[in-house]
Amino acid sequence: MTTMTDSYEALLAAITPPTGTGREVRDPATGEVLGRVADSITADVAAAIATAKAAQPAWAARSDEERRAILHKAADAIERAAEPLALVLSREQGKPLNGPNARFEIGACVAWLRNTADTPLPVDVLVDDGTTYAELHYRPVGVVGAIAPWNWPMMIAIWQIAPSLRMGNTVVAKPSEHTTLSGLALIAILNQELPAGVLNVVTGAGEIGAAITTDPDIDKIMFTGSTATGKSIVAASAGNLPRVTLELGGNDAGIVLPDADPTAIAEGLFWGAFINTGQTCAALKRLYVHDSIYDEVVNVLTDVAAKMPMGIGLDEQNVLGPLQNQMQFDIVDRLVESAKASGARVVLGGEPDRDAPGYFYPTTIVADIHHADPLVVEEQFGPALPVIRYHSVDDAIAHANALDAGLGASVWSSDRAKARDVAARIQAGTVWINSHGTIDPRIPFGGVKGSGYGLEFAAEGLKNVALPQVING
Ligand code: NAD
Repeated sequence: MTTMTDSYEALLAAITPPTGTGREVRDPATGEVLGRVADSITADVAAAIATAKAAQPAWAARSDEERRAILHKAADAIERAAEPLALVLSREQGKPLNGPNARFEIGACVAWLRNTADTPLPVDVLVDDGTTYAELHYRPVGVVGAIAPWNWPMMIAIWQIAPSLRMGNTVVAKPSEHTTLSGLALIAILNQELPAGVLNVVTGAGEIGAAITTDPDIDKIMFTGSTATGKSIVAASAGNLPRVTLELGGNDAGIVLPDADPTAIAEGLFWGAFINTGQTCAALKRLYVHDSIYDEVVNVLTDVAAKMPMGIGLDEQNVLGPLQNQMQFDIVDRLVESAKASGARVVLGGEPDRDAPGYFYPTTIVADIHHADPLVVEEQFGPALPVIRYHSVDDAIAHANALDAGLGASVWSSDRAKARDVAARIQAGTVWINSHGTIDPRIPFGGVKGSGYGLEFAAEGLKNVALPQVING
């Protein structure tokens, strides 16, 4: 008997609506129709939330050990279906199978699930002085609404789902309308191992997300997406006061100090900026380089970037793919054109073939660009990196902090102590030294300023999907 784990075709068939129904999904690399999805109506949202609410007490009543074991089984199921999942992801999102892309994302789903299952969260004894005894416990919140973006559609869904389930909550997930098949495929595989009703899914665009965030039976919202949508969610949820975690847009700065070794850092800079073809929340989106090594850094970075193959994701040699959708292509195109018009120097790329199929935008590096250029101050979310020249480190830090974004940042230097001093002055949830965007399930991750609030991953991430309760006495 064929199961959905056996092949890409079987997995796709398992999540496809009856013939003749649903909306078409197109491959962003070729424009070809690759499948169909059925979108939910708002009544489906209410039904999914009711199912999750009904299933929650029994799920919470299981022991932590049981829930952890089930999460490991769900990780086993992803491993069994790894290649079909990677094919759905690559074809729908556009990211290549190889490089830090589709197969890597499936591996990250497994790693995050297992790590979330194994993260210790002992009861915290707050005071034990002979007279007072107080402990801090973390209880389930209830039903979590998990709303995901289209750039890392499976990995980010796991970031929301895994800690929620571990802590005894049930979930209503909504994949992005741009990557619905990826979300549905992942959840179908997870549901091979999860009890019925624990993980539910609804599909559709903003109005379906809004129906989740305004429902009085949603106790916690995990949202990853744009800052604008994050603000609407906070406004829309005010009536019911669910807890909210917001992982929003970023415009991460990287500062290369004068003592950095350009050749040694070139590849790290490249992947920091261009991972997932730049469609990454915590990617390096504006690079500040000291005047004394500016030309050398631009040259070595351009050499590395020029060698990275971009093309159809299913072609095993590619490590960069198309942008996922027309809207994102248009944003990158507009920002690069405006940089050109302002007199900035395009060192690589910058000339997309607008008539070719797919949303390919070439790897682009823009030098001698002003710090107030739209390509610097707006989030490009694509493969176009502005490199800004600076003369004083204080100025570079001031520019890094000038925007209303604070997800990640990086400092590049041969002197770790000096780099750490600079890092401490940057307003961002994470500052990496000599790397950028290297996330790890053991290390909390989250933004400040317009990049949102709340932490994901590790014990802090578990606490974010739980209710703290003090037992005093
Ligand atoms: P988006 O805000 O357009 O959409 C995200 C999700 O929200 C989608 O599922 C969408 O359907 C839903 N949505 C839209 N309107 C809604 C509403 N009013 N109420 C509830 N849900 C609604 O973002 P996107 O374009 O999918 O993702 C790109 C953005 O996400 C970028 O800014 C990127 O930096 C950010 N991002 C952040 C992180 C992070 O961890 N901080 C990770 C990935 C992406």
